[in-house]
Amino acid sequence: MLTMPDIEFAPIQMKAETLDQINQALSRLDEGAYGYCLECGEEIPERRLRALPFAIRCKDCEEALEVAEERVEDRRLDGSSSGERQP
Ligand SMILES: [Zn+2]
Repeated sequence: MLTMPDIEFAPIQMKAETLDQINQALSRLDEGAYGYCLECGEEIPERRLRALPFAIRCKDCEEALEVAEERVEDRRLDGSSSGERQP
């Protein structure tokens, strides 16, 4: 009797953000703009593309964006916790 190994299929949880990046990278591939930063137009280093094949921004622009997003998050956290401070 043949028994199948008990494989558990873990659902691949992909962030919508990641899917969006892949889609953007693919459309840029079509346009021939793949490998160039979406923000500043600089060529994204091959090393970065190998680590992050769907990178659409260079390291500098990506970091600048992350900092901007973190600031928004910080503001949200400040707003919700400033009223009730733990002693
Ligand atoms: Zn850039």
